[in-house]
Amino acid sequence: MDKRIIYLDHAATTPMYEEAVEAMLPYFTERFGNPSGQYGLANEGKRAVETARKQIAATIGARPEEIYFTGSGTEADNWAIKMAAKAYGDKGHHIITTKIEHHAVLHTCEALEREGYRVTYLTPDEEGLISKESLLRVLTPDTILVSVMAANNEIGTIEPIEELAKIVTERGILFHTDAVQAYGKLPLSVEEGTIAMLSASAHKIGGPKGVGFLYVRRDVRLQSFLHGGAQEKRRRAGTENVPGIVGFAKAAEVTFGARKETEARERELRDYFMKRVLSEIPYVRVTGSVRERLSGHVSFCFQFIEGETVLIMLDSDGICGSSGSACTTGQTEPSHVLTAIGLPEDVAHGALRFTLGRETTKEEIDFTIERMKEVIGKVRAMSPYYVKFAAKDGKE
Ligand SMILES: *Cc1c(COP(=O)(O)O)cnc(C)c1O
Repeated sequence: MDKRIIYLDHAATTPMYEEAVEAMLPYFTERFGNPSGQYGLANEGKRAVETARKQIAATIGARPEEIYFTGSGTEADNWAIKMAAKAYGDKGHHIITTKIEHHAVLHTCEALEREGYRVTYLTPDEEGLISKESLLRVLTPDTILVSVMAANNEIGTIEPIEELAKIVTERGILFHTDAVQAYGKLPLSVEEGTIAMLSASAHKIGGPKGVGFLYVRRDVRLQSFLHGGAQEKRRRAGTENVPGIVGFAKAAEVTFGARKETEARERELRDYFMKRVLSEIPYVRVTGSVRERLSGHVSFCFQFIEGETVLIMLDSDGICGSSGSACTTGQTEPSHVLTAIGLPEDVAHGALRFTLGRETTKEEIDFTIERMKEVIGKVRAMSPYYVKFAAKDGKE
């Protein structure tokens, strides 16, 4: 049973830090009180939530009262975009976002289009970068919100959000960023005042699933998305997920406490991984930016293979990675991100992503590369296109 797992899918979720689990446990048992209660037991929960809020606020240079806990990163994105659209709908009906956002943002914008909002989806360059020129071209007096992710989950590209946020805010428009991938990895700060809203999620940084936060700059008029009790200053009803919030704050403390060291270590492993694959496996390219890239993020497109096939074979060796395609309707479609950066469909089908974490070792990467070489070689040998191509190209 005890199969060895090599977990290289940290962009999907992370194992929880022991410290975060430990911090949460008492809030399931002896400190289970509802923070809205009128007794000491309730106050313990309330105090824990407020301490967590202060800790989280400090990680991005926000004030505690600007942090709202949510049930996920997805909820934070939905809340920011839907409620900003509603609150500022008297000012205009135009929203700008990008073609490479997470579905939590994209599908939310599509829902708003069905309600009569106009949405412009910016096209990135071939590295996945959104330029300020492309943004400037589409801003209109009718624009009320711009949402650009801080870093992309599929290709690891880091967006120039500081620059974009400045342009947007100078024009009196709200800027939201989905920072779920970037939070804990990049030194994000809202101190400049140019970011109106920022979403993050606990389970991407060693915290529990089912808890996120939305930073809302104090001047932003954002209505409640969930109606009910008076929690979160009447802006997000529902009994607080006390253990989750405590675990989130602890995970943030651990993450930010070692952020620079983790970044340096992950960057070295990432570069080693990419370099070896590029030199040892033919017909492959890196997807996303090589320079503006998240520290633990490795992603490729291999020609003449289906990413899913290779993943299944790697899984039998305990290796967990991700392909770039979403197999949602039983039929695989190339990812919207890979399509947006201009990759042809056949190339996009060969996408593989490996995202490293705090516990990833060089030995695990070496093993993964050895397995990849063998598996990709096997899969390609079964492809008549490849056999013909390689014979001509003289590499096999
Ligand atoms: C994971 C992720 C989300 C969704 O967060 P959940 O907490 O899982 O709902 C949103 N955006 C990005 C970029 C993500 O990577």
